[in-house]
Parts: sequence; structure tokens; C-alpha cells
Amino acid sequence: MCGIVGYIGHREAYPIIIKGLKRLEYRGYDSAGIALYDGADIKLSKTKGKVDDLEKRIASEISTTGSLGIGHTRWATHGIPNDINSHPHYSNSGDLVIIHNGIIENYEALKKELIQRGYSFKSDTDTEVLINLIEDIKKNENIKLGKAVQIALNQVIGAYAIAVFDKNKPNEIVVAKLGSPLAIGVGEDEFFIASDASPFIEYTKNAIYLEDEEIAVIRRHKDIKIRKIQDDSLVNPYVQELQMNLEEIEKGGYDHFMLKEIYEQPHAIKDTYRGRLLANKGIIKMAGIDDNIEKFQNASRIIVVACGTSWHAGLVAEYIFEDLARIPVEVEYASEFRYRNPVIHENDVVIAISQSGETADTLAAIKLAKSKGAFVFGVCNVVGSTIARETHAGAYTHAGPEIGVASTKAFTTQITVLTLIALKLAKAKGTISNEDYRLHLNELALIPEKVLEALKHDEHIKHIASIYKDAKNCLYLGRGFNFPVALEGALKLKEISYIHAEGYPAAEMKHGPIALIDENMPIIVIAPKKGHYEKVVSNIEEIKARQGKIIAVVTKGDTSVTNLADHTIEVPETLESLSPLVTTIPLQLLSYHIAVMLEKNVDQPRNLAKSVTVE
Ligand code: GLU
Repeated sequence: MCGIVGYIGHREAYPIIIKGLKRLEYRGYDSAGIALYDGADIKLSKTKGKVDDLEKRIASEISTTGSLGIGHTRWATHGIPNDINSHPHYSNSGDLVIIHNGIIENYEALKKELIQRGYSFKSDTDTEVLINLIEDIKKNENIKLGKAVQIALNQVIGAYAIAVFDKNKPNEIVVAKLGSPLAIGVGEDEFFIASDASPFIEYTKNAIYLEDEEIAVIRRHKDIKIRKIQDDSLVNPYVQELQMNLEEIEKGGYDHFMLKEIYEQPHAIKDTYRGRLLANKGIIKMAGIDDNIEKFQNASRIIVVACGTSWHAGLVAEYIFEDLARIPVEVEYASEFRYRNPVIHENDVVIAISQSGETADTLAAIKLAKSKGAFVFGVCNVVGSTIARETHAGAYTHAGPEIGVASTKAFTTQITVLTLIALKLAKAKGTISNEDYRLHLNELALIPEKVLEALKHDEHIKHIASIYKDAKNCLYLGRGFNFPVALEGALKLKEISYIHAEGYPAAEMKHGPIALIDENMPIIVIAPKKGHYEKVVSNIEEIKARQGKIIAVVTKGDTSVTNLADHTIEVPETLESLSPLVTTIPLQLLSYHIAVMLEKNVDQPRNLAKSVTVE
């Protein structure tokens, strides 16, 4: 995820692009760069850091004249955030320049072929491979830029929103999209390009939102030609008039970043397994695991260290690793682990989980584990973060920036990564049958669709929220894989609505919490069809007998729990081990709506910080 901006027209491009990048910084902010055509040549400047850092650098590095340009604010996926990996990227000849939002999955294979044909690479990015592929095609076939981009994109697997121009043809910009967003602002004899409309809303309200698999050639003083990438058919541009204001655009039309991020989950989960989960081939590719498979195979146990929501993802992983890969797992609060002289052996594998990759306690736990000789593997969202650098190996979640303080898409993408690891390990150890392995791969590939289906119950969940918004306490119950989901559901409610909530294993209720139940107490029970269903039904009966109000998350088509509960929220059926990825969705929405109804600051709840860099 990143922000891209471009301009071609009669004004100076620089101020438009810089201001646009600042508006898009919420989409990614580890590096930034710009390329302008000044009438004779390309002027390119880029740097690790924020758009402010870029501005400073530009002041001493390049002139800023020119009425054609492109700019990028990066959220690294391939290659750490540094000056070289920042966008834009040149082709080898220096004629072409590109900005890219997304992931080219097959970049390694393409890079190998290009190296054989004499190309060299400065950066570690997938993007530099794409621009050289375009150059190679353009030269070999002696064709126009638009055509070359189109042919190249037909060879690419992955997701992209790109903008490319050629210094020898400085009157056009070629853009294309698959999976990542791209809007074109249509002004009077000028065009704007951006990841969302915020960079150009003050210049024009007319926008074309490119559809997936479309390529557009935007020509100065002329027009836009849009084609389908695959079959070359012409598309009639649909220009719409925007009604949204700036803030609404940044939040993608959602009222809060948290809601936007909840809704981004189908996409974020897909981005996380993109290029890794090859379900039709029955393969999972993860370099961090492949290169260290023996460490994992020979490990006597796995210790997960994490805090907050990441700790809950670790608990889900405990069930998955033990069930599939038959390896003992301990899940530790990093803050406790670091201070309690834990027993760590050299053949322990420690998995550290952190969205930001900067969590102070987790970092200290990593250092401790390393000092005792353990192999430490990181699962973070932020590329190049301290934890990513401090661990021996790792896997990124690729969820894109998470702005809402209450974590949502980080949780589900962490579970996705951990599930991929568990499946790889199970396969390597032979603890999973081929049939079960294939079943898991196929089901995991379907999760984005199922999350999308779970999101469709939003209005119903909002109605339930309106009934229970004034509750003083809430109990969340789940069993097995869904016990950590109960903990995470309770945490979400506490964090943003300030209502006291507790998560418990459903059967543990009778050892204490049952005393709290009366006719005013809402109890959220996670009760999917698979896994201890009858036991959960009995627990629900016990609550009913004490007149507690039951809100149950059930599998679509459920009848037993539905007959007992006061309210049910349906989620699609999936494997028990994957069910946390769907059952967690209604709990996120429930907390969100309650907090909104209570008029709390959803995106920045009191006393909390997004990245906890203090112990
Ligand atoms: N995959 C590209 C990179 O790592 C683009 C990432 C982005 O969307 O910012 O540089």
C-alpha cells in the first residue's frame, strides 16, 4: 500500500504533486520520491522518510520546473525503506520512469530472465523489475509505451496501480490498475492521477476511477484512451462528479479509519498470502521459512512473544501449530517474559509478533531470546522496522498502514501469516495428510470472500449495538480456536468504548464469571458449528438459566444456538482452524458501532498509542 500522484497539463506539476503526497501519507510513509520532466530531461529525487524530508532534499537537489510529473509515498513490501528502494524507479536506459503501488508476485522469475538479457538492478524492489520488463518489450518490439506496458502487465502476476512516462515522449503518462486503486482527475486541458481523489479535489471534481485490468494512456492537450489489458478492447471512460470532502476521501468514504480498516480485511488478507499461497499447486512459498525450515523442524517448542492484539493472534497460532504441526507452543506476554528469567533452549524457536515492529517489550524479549541462543522469527507489518531487523528471519503481514489505534486488519493478517507457517511446517514434518493440507490451502484462499460475506451483516450488528450500548459490563466466551477471539473481542470493546469487558473460555465461566450474570449482562458467545459446538450450546443453556442476554456468533444456517440466543450474527462456514478469521469480524463491528453511538474517539481512544515504544 502506498500513495501515488501524477500530473500532466499546463500548470507547474511540483506543488500539486508535493501537496498530493502529503494528503496520501496516511497510505504509507516510509519513503517518498518524485520525478518531473523539465522540458529536456527527467529530474528525480527520492528519500527514505516522510514527504517533508523529500521537500528538504528536493530544495538542494533538483529544480522543480515542469508540467509533467509523478510522485510516490511508499509503504515497503519488497526491500527495506531506504533511498534506493524508494520510488520512482528508472529503467536501465534512464528513459522510462515508474511509480507503483502493489506487489509483483512473480518478480523473481522475471528478474532472473532480465538479468540473463543483460539488465542490472539497483534496488531490491519488485517495481524496478517491472519498469525494465516494460523497457525490454518496448525495445525488442519497437512499439509505443502504452503497448509495451500492456504486454508487460499481461506477464505479471500480482497487484498494481502504476504510472509510467518516457522522457522521449513527454506528452503522455501511462497508468494501469489491478487490485490497487487509481483515480484520474479530469480538469480543463489537464489531468491528475492519484490513489484517491484527495490530491486533486481542489482542482477538479470530475474523476474517472480506473477498473481492474484497465490501462489508460493520458495525453497532454488531448484525451484519455482506456483499454482492457487482456483483450485490448476499448473502454468508454465514465467520468463521475465527486461529492465528498477531503477528509471523507482520505477515509475512503468511511466515517473512521477503523471502519475502513475493518472493511479492508478481505483485501489485506489476500495481500498477505499473495505470492505465498499457491493453492492450485498445493504450495506455500515463504522465503523466511524455506531458508530456515530445519530450525523449525528440529525445534522442541515454539515460544510466541507479543503484546495486546498480537498476543491474541499468538494464542490463535498456539492452537493452529499444535493441531496441525504437532509442536508444543507457549504464548508469552513479552513484558512478563523479558523480566522473569525464562528457560530458553538453543533449539527453541521464538516467534515475535508486532504490527509496528517497534513494540518495546517485544523487542526486549527478542534480545533476551537471542542472547540465550534461540532462533527468533519476526511477524510484523512495517517493513524494515526494528523488530524486522533484530530477528534472524521473518515474514511481513502486508496489511498496509493501520491508522486506527484499535488493531483490526493487523490481527487477521497476523493469523493468516501464522497459519501459512503452521501449514508449511506441518507439511515438512508430515503431521498433516495430503488431503487435509490441500483442504486447508483451498479454504484459506476462500477466506477473503468469507470475510466479505461476514461484513454484510453490518446493519444487523449496528442494530444489536444500539440495544446494548449502555451496558456497563460485557462477557465474551469462546472455546478452542475461538477462545482467543473472545479475548480479542473483549479487548476491542474496552479499547474504544471504555465498557468493561472480559473474555473467557466458555467452560471456565462456571468457575467465577457466572456470578456476574443477571438479566442486564450481555454475553457474546462465539459458537461456530465446528469444534465443541454441543459444549458451547450447554454453556449457552447455563447462561439462559440465569437470564443473561446472549448475542451469538454462529455459522450460517445454524438452528440450535439461534433458538436459544437473544440475537445471532451469522458468519460463513469454514474449517475450525480458520474460523477465527471470520468470527472476529462481527466482534470488531460490534465494538465499533457501540463506540460510535457512545460518541467516543474511535480512531484515537484515550490513553492509548498506536505503536507502544515504551515499556
Ligand atoms: N512493492 C513496491 C515496493 O516495495 C511498492 C510498495 C507500495 O505499494 O508502496 O516498493
